Amino acid sequence: MTGKIPKSFIEDVLNRTDIVSLIDAYVPLRKKGANHMACCPFHQEKTPSFSVSSQKQIYYCFGCGLGGDAIRFLMEYEHLNFMEALEILAKQVGLALPQENKTYESSTHFYDVLNKTVQFYQQQLKNTKEAIHYLKSRGITGVLAKEYLLGFSPSAWDNLTSALGKDEQITQALLQTGLLIKKESGHVYDRFRSRIMFPIRDVKGRVIAFGGRVLIKEEPKYLNSPETPLFHKGRELYGLYEARHRSREIPYFIVVEGYMDVLALAQHGISYAVGTLGTATTAEHIVKLLKYTKKLVFCFDGDRAGRDAAWRALQVALPFLSDGVQLAFMFLPQEEDPDSFIRTQGKEAFLAEVKKAVSFADFIFRHLSESRDVSTLDGKASLSHVITPLIDKIPEGALKQLMYERLGRLLSLSTSQLRALSKKSHVEFSADLQKTKTATANSKRAMTHLTPLRLSMALLLQYPLLRDSVPASLHVIAWTQAESELFREILALLSAQPDASAAQLLRHWEDKPEYMLISELLMKEHFIDESELEKEFVQVLWRLEQQHHESCIEKMLMKARAQGLTSEERLALQRLIEGVKIIL
Ligand SMILES: [Zn+2]
Repeated sequence: MTGKIPKSFIEDVLNRTDIVSLIDAYVPLRKKGANHMACCPFHQEKTPSFSVSSQKQIYYCFGCGLGGDAIRFLMEYEHLNFMEALEILAKQVGLALPQENKTYESSTHFYDVLNKTVQFYQQQLKNTKEAIHYLKSRGITGVLAKEYLLGFSPSAWDNLTSALGKDEQITQALLQTGLLIKKESGHVYDRFRSRIMFPIRDVKGRVIAFGGRVLIKEEPKYLNSPETPLFHKGRELYGLYEARHRSREIPYFIVVEGYMDVLALAQHGISYAVGTLGTATTAEHIVKLLKYTKKLVFCFDGDRAGRDAAWRALQVALPFLSDGVQLAFMFLPQEEDPDSFIRTQGKEAFLAEVKKAVSFADFIFRHLSESRDVSTLDGKASLSHVITPLIDKIPEGALKQLMYERLGRLLSLSTSQLRALSKKSHVEFSADLQKTKTATANSKRAMTHLTPLRLSMALLLQYPLLRDSVPASLHVIAWTQAESELFREILALLSAQPDASAAQLLRHWEDKPEYMLISELLMKEHFIDESELEKEFVQVLWRLEQQHHESCIEKMLMKARAQGLTSEERLALQRLIEGVKIIL
């Protein structure tokens, strides 16, 4: 995503920047142990969980999960894109953007080219009957199409170079903004062809990317711009600019998934819907939306995937639930999305569904009670065990207290008993590893809560030399646990860049969904004695290997029961079982 800006330049800027003094100018920091701490500027809290590491040159909030390097902080805090943040930091440390990049790379030039592209696509829409027909059939009027700058990309492979010219600067800007793709041969072609085009605008109204929907049956149905210097999918919301533009007061936001959902709702006079561009809801989305209104209604499909998406959104949102913030979830009937629902049932029916949305509290209790019998003691214990860590994510305040009271009523325990129970379980979890006593608020969120795989990744990221301690006899390559691919990626990265700093390692995930997780793993405190590090690390790896073996055996046994094994497979199974014995 850093495009043509040389990596070395970005590193230069970061090396000359001190993240502690940068952040301290916005959020006064206090030194605590190895880190600098403050109450998080991105979510409301009373005990500091926002920490900045001078040694690692990154920040991370253990409360809400936002983190990154100095560039990311400026982007988040000042609502800038990557280029703008880099330009500011470069100026602060007395570096000028490389001359040869200046003409091609300045954001103004990008916006300019994107605007011309919008105009071209709009013009094409006017000339394309099928596209107009499609939009009309979905109830989208010409007025709405104009307001949302809808367009059409023709089927040719070179629409943009023919329309905007083959000038090198323009071609570069089209490549950098993801509108053109370059083949290995050096040949360039249009990313979007035969698609209805939905321009995505930032909060200032500037077009920064596109979504495209196919007209004829073809895959993928929807295509987005890739991550670019102007566009980070996880931070943008489709329709946010238009929603703010349409109404001065936003009663609440309805968070939906797709472009057509936003448009269909707007067409029916509900102009406060925003779309997550097909990604899961992120902390950045929540921070952004809560700036304009205190109430969010998540609208998901009624199927399993919809419920899962809702549950994920809920977990991301919990740290931002300070008093006054309202969060509700609505589930449409199976097979319906907001677009189809409002077109067939109308605005009133849709608003009736919004009214029926369940509060986040009801959603949590319902979701977690579903699989448990809370009339039994076991069920109660298990519910309290899964629900208290969630309630603990909510900032201190009336809302949190109410949640504890509700849990207490359900379990017939007093609030203080519950809170004591929650603290006790934190202490028990970390008792064996917590040899050093630190009084930071983070101690309860220390590594002990990590899965073995995450613990091993955290140690590896923080102590790259541990890479040499990975036993050669492990079958890391074959591990199938969730995130084992990420573990292999970290190993490969450390082999390629053995001397990389924490911030440099983090840059590797700049445009990827794992960015927040890697920030977290880099910042986690582990409370393991330095002299024990290698031993701990290797032990965790063997535990993972054993898990892997056990799942292989499980699979083989399942196959044996279902269809029987060949003699070769039987032998392999026997070896596997012996292998596990050896490890044990
Ligand atoms: Zn935070």
